[in-house]
Amino acid sequence: MKPKTIALDGPAASGKSTVGSRVAEALGYLFFDTGVMYRAVTWTALQRGVDLSDKDAVAQIAQNVPIDVLPPSKNDGRACDVLVEKEDITWQCRRPEVDANVSTVAANAGVRAALSKQQRRIGLRGKVVMVGRDIGTVVIPEAELKIYLDASAEERAQRRYDEIIARKEIADYAEILAKVKERDHIDSTRDVAPLRPADDAVIIDSDKLDANQVFEEIMALCK
Ligand code: C5P
Repeated sequence: MKPKTIALDGPAASGKSTVGSRVAEALGYLFFDTGVMYRAVTWTALQRGVDLSDKDAVAQIAQNVPIDVLPPSKNDGRACDVLVEKEDITWQCRRPEVDANVSTVAANAGVRAALSKQQRRIGLRGKVVMVGRDIGTVVIPEAELKIYLDASAEERAQRRYDEIIARKEIADYAEILAKVKERDHIDSTRDVAPLRPADDAVIIDSDKLDANQVFEEIMALCK
C-alpha cells in the first residue's frame, strides 16, 4: 500500500522541491511545499515595512493575511501558485531579500503556530507529498513515510550556483555558500521546531546522487 502522506524534510537547497514534485506527480498526489508559506509571510512583512524583530506584528500577518498555495496556473517553471490576498507572488517570494530574511521569520513561534495549523489540516487529507523542515517532526508526525534529504552545504551551494548561471544571471559561489550555511544555522538552532530528522525518518544523502537516483530511491520506499 502506498503511504498516504509523505513528509520530505531537509535543509535549504537539498533538492526537496525538485524531487518532491516528481514523486507527487508519479503518485497522483498533491505537492505541497510548506516553505512558500514562510516566504509569503516574509514577503508581505517586507512589503508593508513591518520590522521583522517585532514578533507580534509579524505573527499577526501569518494569522490574518490569506495565503493560498494552488496547483500551477502557468507553465513557467513554477511548482505551485503562491497567492497573498489573491495577488500572485510566486516569483516575488523567491527574491534575495526574502531568502535573506525568511529564516528569521520562520523562527517566530507565533508565525509557526499559525502556519503549521493550516499545513496540518491540508496534510491530514492525505495523498500529499509535503516538503519542509518540520513535517515529520511537528506538522504530521504520523506521516507513513518520512524522508530527510540531506547534502553537504558545499554541494547545495553548487546546485544553487548552477541554477542561477543556467538562467544567465550573475552568481558568486562563496556568497551563496555563506548564505546557505547561515540559513542552516538559524533553521537548526531555533527553539521552535528546529530542523532535524524525525527518529523514524529514512535519511538520504544526495551528495553523490543525482535527482533521478533520489527519485528512484523514494519511489522504491513507497512500494
Ligand atoms: O524550503 P525553502 O527554502 O523555500 O524554505 C524557506 C524557509 O522557510 C527555510 O529556510 C525555513 O526557515 C522555513 N521553513 C520552515 N519550516 C518549513 C518550511 C520552511 O521553517 N516547514
